[in-house]
Amino acid sequence: MDETTTRLTDAQRNLLRDVMTKRAGVLRREIGGALRRANGAGVERDERELAEVERALAQLAVDDYGRCIECGAPIGWERLAVQPQARRCIPCEAVREARGPRRPTL
Ligand SMILES: [Zn+2]
Repeated sequence: MDETTTRLTDAQRNLLRDVMTKRAGVLRREIGGALRRANGAGVERDERELAEVERALAQLAVDDYGRCIECGAPIGWERLAVQPQARRCIPCEAVREARGPRRPTL
């Protein structure tokens, strides 16, 4: 993977916005359904992911999106295309995962 990929194109930003907007809608419906069933399983995870997606959408809107929170480098398109709400580049995420124990952030 090429983590040196620089800024996203408008088309890439629009694609990520569409993907995350749809995902946020799915998560809101899932959370609503899970709450209606009074079944706590999965709600917490969905709420956490929804918060991440909404944060990423807000950053996308103000052009503060796609930078690694650890090293500041642009996060590669390959990673964002798979996980639009990713907060770390692949090398920083690998270091973080190697350090463990896992926390449920992205
Ligand atoms: Zn990084």
